[in-house]
Parts: sequence; structure tokens; C-alpha cells
Amino acid sequence: MSTPNHRIRLLMDLRAAGIGDTAVLSAIERVPREAFVPPTFRDRAYEDAALPIGHAQTLSRPSVVGLMSQALEAGPRMKVLEIGTGSGYQTCVLARMVRRVYTIERHRELMQEAEARFKALRIHNVTTKFGDGWQGWAAQAPFERIIVTAAPSEIPATLIDQLAEGGVMVLPVGREKRTQSLIRVRKTDGRATIEELDAVRFVPMVAGLPT
Ligand code: SAH
Repeated sequence: MSTPNHRIRLLMDLRAAGIGDTAVLSAIERVPREAFVPPTFRDRAYEDAALPIGHAQTLSRPSVVGLMSQALEAGPRMKVLEIGTGSGYQTCVLARMVRRVYTIERHRELMQEAEARFKALRIHNVTTKFGDGWQGWAAQAPFERIIVTAAPSEIPATLIDQLAEGGVMVLPVGREKRTQSLIRVRKTDGRATIEELDAVRFVPMVAGLPT
């Protein structure tokens, strides 16, 4: 269910969670989250909660989507790589903020469902790929920004390689859910500097494709 009240309450929750970037808040305001969750969870779409999307995967809480989008420091002319399309919600929020989003998902069905949502919502600046995010997207690199929405055990070196000079990557890192942290990587003069932002819980970034 989406009433103006639900959306206003969500935006207040996001501000309380430390999201003050108006580009991020207005992008979230313009993406109908109920379109990304299974029908049984639609009445909870505007709560600040993670929700199941099938295949043992989850759609992150809006405050985490907001914090990651804000930490990315993305601008309207940028080219962004996203690993872990999932429902496509985070993809759409970014698509409202940047020039183009390239997004990779290793579950074919999730990818197809997300593609159908982009079409229905008339979002035309997203390019999708079914594949393994550990490989990145060499043909489209370098990317000014990279966001990863599944947790690798360590920062994938391939993704640092595919990050542009001066670029920023935001990702959760850690093998165990209870010890993951959200990390920001900045690439300057070919070197990566790492900053720890927050404690988070994400599904693992799995290597390879489902058999
Ligand atoms: N951002 C998504 C939620 C992502 S859940 C949303 O807004 O809905 C994490 C997603 O990462 C899952 O869909 C999972 O299948 C995907 N994933 C995990 N490992 C991956 C990999 N190696 N390559 C690409 N996608 C991966």
C-alpha cells in the first residue's frame, strides 16, 4: 500500500537514520517500493525493514539503501556498476540519480523479474547482465562508482581494477553476517584507501553461477 502518509513517514525515518542528501531522498521518494516486493509484503513496503524477494534473497531496508546511495557520493553524469540486482530497487534509486547503471545478477529469474520492473516503471538508463559479479563488467569499465549489495568475504580485486581513477566503491565485506562492515574504497593515484562506515548484514556474494 502506498499512501502519501506512508511515504512521508519513510522519508522521516530516513532523515532520522542520517540520510540528509537531497538527491538520495528525492530518488527514494520517486521509486515505488511496493513494486519490488511480493504481494504478501506490499502493506509493509514503506516500513524501514528488509523484505524477502525469493531465492533466499532479501531487499535491503530503505535506510541501508539510503546510506549506501549517500556514501557513494554519486553525481548526475556518472556511470555506475552495481553487483547484486536482486529486486532492482537499489538499481532504480541509483538510476534516478546518475546517468547510467550497469547491474549484474547471478539468479536468472531475479534478473528477469527486475528487468520487467524497469520496463513497467519506464526506467531506461539501466543495462542488465546475467553473470558473476566477482568478474565485474570489463567491457564497460572503468566505472566512476561501484556499489555491491551482497557481501564478499574480501574486497574483490577485479572490482578495484574496474574502478576509475578518483572513483568510489561502497560494499559490505565479511564472511559472517554478524561481523560484516560497510566499507568505502577510494581509488587515488591507482591506490585504494579504505574507510569503515557501519555494521551491516547482507547475504553473501557467491562465486560462480547457480547450476
Ligand atoms: N540490491 C538488491 C538486494 C540485493 S540481495 C535490491 O535492492 O533488491 C543480493 C543479491 O546479490 C541477490 O539477488 C543475489 O542473487 C546477488 N548476488 C550474490 N552473489 C552474486 C554474484 N557473485 N554476482 C551477482 N549477483 C550476486
